[in-house]
Amino acid sequence: MNRRTRHLNCSAPKRWLAIGIVSVLLAGAMPDHARADGFDRWVTQLWPEARALGVSRTTFDAAFSGVRPDETIHQAAGNQPEFVRPIWQYMERAVSDQRVSTGRERSFEFDNLLNAIEAVYGVDRHVVMAIWGMESNYGGHLGDKNVIQALATLGYQGRRQRFGRRQLLAALQILERRDITPDLMTGSWAGAMGHTQFIPTTYNAYAVDFDGDGRRDIWLTIADALGSTANYLRVSGWQPGRTWGYEVIIPRNFDYSVVGGARRLVSEWQRLGLRLPGGAALLHPGNEADLILPSGADGPAFLTLRNFRAILRYNNATAYALSVGHLSDRIRGADEFSKAWPVDVLPLTSSQKVELQNLLNRAGFSVGTADGVIGRQTRAGIRRYQTSVGLIPDGYPSVPLLNRLRS
Ligand code: CA
Repeated sequence: MNRRTRHLNCSAPKRWLAIGIVSVLLAGAMPDHARADGFDRWVTQLWPEARALGVSRTTFDAAFSGVRPDETIHQAAGNQPEFVRPIWQYMERAVSDQRVSTGRERSFEFDNLLNAIEAVYGVDRHVVMAIWGMESNYGGHLGDKNVIQALATLGYQGRRQRFGRRQLLAALQILERRDITPDLMTGSWAGAMGHTQFIPTTYNAYAVDFDGDGRRDIWLTIADALGSTANYLRVSGWQPGRTWGYEVIIPRNFDYSVVGGARRLVSEWQRLGLRLPGGAALLHPGNEADLILPSGADGPAFLTLRNFRAILRYNNATAYALSVGHLSDRIRGADEFSKAWPVDVLPLTSSQKVELQNLLNRAGFSVGTADGVIGRQTRAGIRRYQTSVGLIPDGYPSVPLLNRLRS
């Protein structure tokens, strides 16, 4: 029996709570070995919750065997950049020529598997491939962190304690089911695991055993990984036989006030003058779609359909979902977008967004509290300002717009 196990046999939770509080108070002044004891106690306090979720003592001890907090995790977590990468820079890397060509090669290689996945889930194979490419570069970057250690580090201290603790408990449940062994359960610093980069709660909800060997293995079994991705998309509302969306051309004298407004039938967008690049009629006229202009009126525009929102469930960022959609089209053989990105119209950083809101408020285009969040109210204020100075009212918060307001 190791020392941690003996702690767990103690039936005085309040005592441990008191020691926990004292250890938090003293943590800053303590030498490393004392802080490590604090981690032991934190693990001890986690046990009753894990047990209540069906985790056995054996699994719990095996998972935490030799696990100490890993400072590199906090460094990775703290190094999230404040500046905003323009969407075209993000997409240049996300939808690189290398990723397109590898995606095409892998599609041939896994043709039988992709047929089977399409038959079961109805999710377009190219989208499954695109997500695989986005998440792990087709298995090239699975992440080499011990997931239990990474999540325990986040759960023990720092700004992501709630996330770390919840995901850690979910990870213990995965180990309890023997889907994977602790040493093979690797992932990113934030606990995103395997080919699909599922965090443990996502894994527990959506991972499938597609090859039928009794284990849901998204780390070493491509069939399970790609099947899990398709299952996640299907449960998120993927509609078989439909697209995520497509690029559209906006006519002159378009009423930009409809951007970011109500969802409309594609046939209605057609009536408002939108066309495919080249002038052809819009696809799927009976479907509802959103019009998005990720970099304002100067950049490409897109109609996004129901399947785009399914991709957003995977990762709730427009740049991500658009990259998945575009990469899937490119793997299928489509061209790049017809309209170029406006590389000199940079998006705003968080602090610049606050400054923009303050300037709009001061100039009488009331946008409410300057919180750095560009919501409906801020976009409406931007549009009123743009209209007042003769700009296209696309509601897009850019650096040129901020400069104009400053002067
Ligand atoms: Ca399996």
